[in-house]
Parts: sequence; C-alpha cells; structure tokens
Amino acid sequence: MLRTAGDIVSEFSLSRCVRCGACDNVCPSGRNGGIHPDEVIYALIDADALSDAKDIRADVWKCLMCHRCSMDCPEGIDVTGAVRSLRYMDAVSGNSPKRFRAASETLVREGRAFPVNDIVDRKRAELGLEELSYDTDSVNELRKIMSATGFRYE
Ligand code: SF4
Ligand code: SF4
Repeated sequence: MLRTAGDIVSEFSLSRCVRCGACDNVCPSGRNGGIHPDEVIYALIDADALSDAKDIRADVWKCLMCHRCSMDCPEGIDVTGAVRSLRYMDAVSGNSPKRFRAASETLVREGRAFPVNDIVDRKRAELGLEELSYDTDSVNELRKIMSATGFRYE
C-alpha cells in the first residue's frame, strides 16, 4: 500500500512533472474555489520522500474525479490517480469528510448511496415506477466487495 509522499511520487512518476500548470487550467473544481491539482503534485514532489502522504494537506475531497487533469497533462501523469491516493489514505485513517462517510454507510446498509424515503416512494408512484425493493443478496455481495477493498463499517 502507498504510504509516503515518495511512494506516490514513484507510483505516478511525478518527477516527470514540468510544472506547466496545464492540469490546473482545466480543473473545474479549482475554478470554483476547490482543489488545485498542480499544487497537490508540487507538494508531493517537494515533500520529504519519507513523510506520511496523509499529511499532505490539500483539498482532495473537492476533486470531482473528472480526469480532465490527467487527460491534459503533457507528461501523461495520472494526476487524478495521485489525488485519489491521498483520498484513500484519508479514508483508511478515518479522516474522510462526514458526508462521504454517511453516503458510504448508506450504501453498505441499503445498497444505494441515497436512502429511499417517503418522498422517493411518492415520486416514483406519481411517475408510475415500481416501488424499489431491498435486494438482500445484492447488498450482501456489495458488503463483501467493500470489505475486500478495506472499507470498514459498523
Ligand atoms: S480530476 Fe479532480 S483535480 Fe483533476 S481536473 Fe477533475 S476535479 Fe480537477
Ligand atoms: S499538467 Fe502535468 S506536467 Fe503540468 S503541472 Fe500538471 S502534473 Fe505537472
């Protein structure tokens, strides 16, 4: 598992970065007060190689995972992958934002990221759609898959 800044620099070949800022220019999040992917990459490169990557503080949870930064990097760096690695480290150490944890817990509990409540039931009925059912087998499969990826839940 990736743990240090040096691990991520090596895994994603970040030393190829020419600091052109192209990833930031196309980032829809950064334009709206969110993450600046170039700053994340520079912080990783400039960090002590042995420092814990989860200590690289960046707005990684504001990333939309749209992959535009990776698509436009002239050096072919998977910028999104590096951001995802930092999110993963936050998640395994229990530091992901509350709203993300809530969505994950709903997913584990109900097999859906959003709870089905009376409003959903009523809207579906109005649209002539079938009532949503709880598929125990599918939810159990999902829990197995999530456990295999290291996701922990109560
Ligand atoms: S994947 Fe994230 S960092 Fe990259 S362009 Fe999209 S929002 Fe920005
Ligand atoms: S687009 Fe690629 S080379 Fe340019 S700053 Fe971003 S990561 Fe570095």
